[in-house]
Amino acid sequence: MPLPLLMLDVDGPLAPYVGSPYRRPEGYLTHRLPVRSWQERQRAAGIRTPKPLRVWLHPDHGPALRALPYALVWATTWKDEANQHLAPLLGLPELPYVDWPSMHHGDPDGLHWKTRHLVAWAAGRPFAWVDDEMSPRDTAWIAAHHPAPALTLPVDHRYGLRAADFTVLTDWAEENAS
Ligand SMILES: [Mg+2]
Repeated sequence: MPLPLLMLDVDGPLAPYVGSPYRRPEGYLTHRLPVRSWQERQRAAGIRTPKPLRVWLHPDHGPALRALPYALVWATTWKDEANQHLAPLLGLPELPYVDWPSMHHGDPDGLHWKTRHLVAWAAGRPFAWVDDEMSPRDTAWIAAHHPAPALTLPVDHRYGLRAADFTVLTDWAEENAS
């Protein structure tokens, strides 16, 4: 049996964000990264010399993710830049990533823009999806359209992934993918 996929969003679950730049959640470290796509967006907005992107990452997340019984996949707008910038800081190997055919588009059924792409990418394999933006509508649609078990795990973007989330992921893999 191949391992289930773990589709990883970055902004929110791994890189939490809050209203105040001074309210870093406990245990996180601050990094300033020259992310190409971020700087391009800054330039498009008229900022001539974009600053690096400030990102909070938790050093325990990489080892904790590697210990899970899943095949890890980046499911984030960072795409290949997650491998370039985040994997080394988190202690993760280079991972496959979903190369979205489109991003941030509207959906006729009100789904998150990632949902249909993720189901297509999973191609029938069991998967868990960790994200701060999904809704119960996405969960219901995936259950109706994905032929294998799937878990949608919403994460609070103010805190990122917490111990309870890792427990949910471990338990689900043991129950659904063996
Ligand atoms: Mg997110």
